[in-house]
Amino acid sequence: MSKTIQAIRGMNDILPTDSAQWQQVETILKSVLNQYGFNEIRLPIVEHTPLFNRAIGEITDVVEKEMYSFEDRGGESLTLRPEGTAGCVRAGIEHGLLYNQEQRLWYIGPMFRYERPQKGRYRQFHQIGAEVFGLAGPDIDAELIIMTARWWNALGINQHVKLELNSIGTLEERANYKNALVSFLSKHKDSLDEDCLRRLDTNPLRILDSKNPDVQAILIDAPNLFDYLEEESKSHFNRLCDILKANGIDFTLNQRLVRGLDYYNRTVFEWVTTSLGAQGTVCAGGRYDGLVEQLGGKATPAVGFAMGLERLVLLIQSINPQLFKINQADLYVVSFGDNSIEQAIAIAEKIRNTMPNLRCVVNHGGGNMKKQLTRADKQGAKFAVLIGEDEIKQQQVTIKSLISGEQTTVMQKDMVEFLNNATKN
Ligand code: ATP
Ligand code: MG
Repeated sequence: MSKTIQAIRGMNDILPTDSAQWQQVETILKSVLNQYGFNEIRLPIVEHTPLFNRAIGEITDVVEKEMYSFEDRGGESLTLRPEGTAGCVRAGIEHGLLYNQEQRLWYIGPMFRYERPQKGRYRQFHQIGAEVFGLAGPDIDAELIIMTARWWNALGINQHVKLELNSIGTLEERANYKNALVSFLSKHKDSLDEDCLRRLDTNPLRILDSKNPDVQAILIDAPNLFDYLEEESKSHFNRLCDILKANGIDFTLNQRLVRGLDYYNRTVFEWVTTSLGAQGTVCAGGRYDGLVEQLGGKATPAVGFAMGLERLVLLIQSINPQLFKINQADLYVVSFGDNSIEQAIAIAEKIRNTMPNLRCVVNHGGGNMKKQLTRADKQGAKFAVLIGEDEIKQQQVTIKSLISGEQTTVMQKDMVEFLNNATKN
C-alpha cells in the first residue's frame, strides 16, 4: 500500500461541522461591515515579494522569518500573502481607487506565515480586515473601533475582549524617540537577547514588544514614546479617546503596543483576550498614513485592522458556544401512505418558497409515523408537517408542535400563514 499524503503542518482543513460555524460567524461580520458602508475587495493570494518587503518592512518578524516566498517558473520572486493590507494598497493604487477619494473596504481570506504551529497560530490562517482610505482624522479611527465592538456584541464575546490603545506618533517623532530608546538600551546590553541586540541597530522599537521577561524588566524604566509626541499627534490621540469614551468603549492605554508591522503611525490598537492562552490578540490595527505613498501612490491617509478568524472562532467556541447550536431542521415533513412523498416534496417546496430562512427537511426513505417523528426530533425540528391519505384527500396538512405535542389540521392554502405565526414564537 502506498503511503498516504497528509496536509502541510499548520495548514488546516476546515471540516463541515466547523465550516458551518465559520459561515455563521462570517455572515455576522459581513452584515456589520455592510451596516457601516464597507465594500468587499477580492485580492490575489500571491504578490510580488518586494511588495511585502517594502510595505511591512525588512526588519520585521514577518519579512525576516515568516514569508512563504518562491521563484515561479519565470524566475520571479513571489510570496504567498502574509497579510492583506499591502495587497489592498497595491490594488488601490493600481486601479486609481485611493487618491482624493474616500474608500471603505474589507477583505477576507487565507494568509500564510511560516510560524511554529500551535493553538491559535498556524501557517495558513484566515483574516478578515477592513481598510479606510482618504480620512485623516481620529473620528474614523474611533468609528472603526466602534464597529469592531459591535462585532463582539453580535457574537456574544464582548465581556471577553479588551481594547488596548496607543499612539506611536509620526515618523519624525518616532525617530527622536528611537534615539532616546537606543541610548537607554545601550546601557543595558547585558540583559538583551540576541534578537534584541540585532534590533538595537535595525529596528529598536520592536524591542518594546519583546516577550523575553528579562527584556520586559528593563523596559519598565525605558523612556516613554508618549513623551515624544508633538501637539498634533497628542490631540489626534486625545480626540480618539474622547470619541471612544462618548460611545461607551472602554480601553486601556498600553504604551508598549507598537505592532509587528512597520507601516503604522499614530493610532495603534489591539483587541486582546485572556481566554485563548498565549495567542491573545484577536484583532489588531492602526493608522498607516505613509504606506500609500511608500508604495508609489499619492499621499493618502489610511487606517485599518485585521482579525484572525481561527482565534475568533476558538474564542466563540469557548465563550459563547450557544451561537453555534443550530438545528439540522426547523421543520420536518413527514408523509405516509402510497405516493404521499410527491405531496410531501411539493409542500416542502411551497414552504421554502415563502419561508426562505427556515430549514425545511423532508423525510426520505419511508418509515412509520413514529420512526419519522423520532428522526424529526433528532434533527432538532420544532414542528413536523404531517401528510397522510386523509390530508391528501382533503387538501390539508397537520402541523404538530414537537415541543408541546399539540396538533392542528389546516387547509394547505392556509399552511404558510399558520407556520408563519407558529414559528414566530
Ligand atoms: P501575533 O503577535 O499573535 O503574532 P501579529 O502581530 O503577527 O500577531 P497581525 O499581523 O497584526 O498579527 O495580524 C492580525 C491578526 O491576525 C492577529 O491578531 C491574529 O488574530 C491573526 N494572526 C496573525 N498571525 C496568525 C497566525 N500565524 N495564525 C493565526 N492567526 C494569526
Ligand atoms: Mg506574528
